Amino acid sequence: MDISFVIPCYNEEGNVRLLSEEIGRVFVPESISYELVLVNDGSKDGTKAELKKLFDESEPGTVKAVHFSRNFGKEAAILCGLRHASGETVCIIDADLQQPPEVALEMYLKLVSDPDLDVVAAYQKNRKESGLLKACKRMFYKIINGMSDVEFQAHASDFRIFRKNVKDAILSLPEYFRFSKGIFAFVGFESAFIPYVVRERRSGVSKWSFTKLFRYAVEGIVGYSTEPLRFATFTGAFLSIASILFLIVLLVLSIAKVPCSAVLPVIGVIVLIGGVQMIFLGIIGEYLMRTYLQGKNRPIYIEKEVWEKK
Ligand code: UDP
Ligand code: MG
Repeated sequence: MDISFVIPCYNEEGNVRLLSEEIGRVFVPESISYELVLVNDGSKDGTKAELKKLFDESEPGTVKAVHFSRNFGKEAAILCGLRHASGETVCIIDADLQQPPEVALEMYLKLVSDPDLDVVAAYQKNRKESGLLKACKRMFYKIINGMSDVEFQAHASDFRIFRKNVKDAILSLPEYFRFSKGIFAFVGFESAFIPYVVRERRSGVSKWSFTKLFRYAVEGIVGYSTEPLRFATFTGAFLSIASILFLIVLLVLSIAKVPCSAVLPVIGVIVLIGGVQMIFLGIIGEYLMRTYLQGKNRPIYIEKEVWEKK
């Protein structure tokens, strides 16, 4: 088996068959053997029925379908797909045909032509997004690359192909909060990047809202940097020292009997410190929540059914 396509599917009834056909159209003439590992992430539409048809029609060993007990999110679906993938290389691709299989072929050919390469990833050349979202994403990469020890490639998606050794490295990370961009950056390996243009979604709607993206960005920063914690400590120390000095000055002024209304600035300072404390309590809470959830050792997803023809 040359390639395992790992395909997370959440409400993709109108896309899974098309995707399977497109992959076939591109890869069959090249005589590249592949399997589809479709992970149904608790879809609420007819995705399961579509997968059933696809599975029933398939030759043994070419289609695997795993159904989750509920929606666990794309990252969980990718992890599950990787665990079920048996190919020499793995290609992660969205179900909605936004990522052209032709680019997957280009990535595959690049990977196999160079034995030193372990990963070939696609990055989006022209993003069809609003200026505000673009600016936010640029800022995200600036912040995270400034704070984290590992290098995040700007605009690289999880649309990529890699060898088995990279898959094993990714699977060796047991973390509960999975952030693909961070995991890829963390495991390293010899990587090449090729540009691609994102197509329109074939059917259905995107599952990403601005708040979901914001949460995802926080995930990346908290998951891959402890700088915010240190920042909290430094700011806390600075504020404490400053306020002690301020109190000493007030004391000296009152000893020297200099008249001044100390009430207003004191109230201001109390409110300021209170506010700052709240912010940093929030940051600490973020980390604590993660330790807490990781400590529970819950599974990242639950499989309800696995379909596989041997
Ligand atoms: N997806 C998933 N679980 C989710 C959300 C999304 O498996 O909870 C899948 C979805 O079916 C698609 C891929 O992740 O194959 C990318 O999702 P989407 O197209 O909504 O994201 P966008 O392309 O807008 O970034
Ligand atoms: Mg999409």
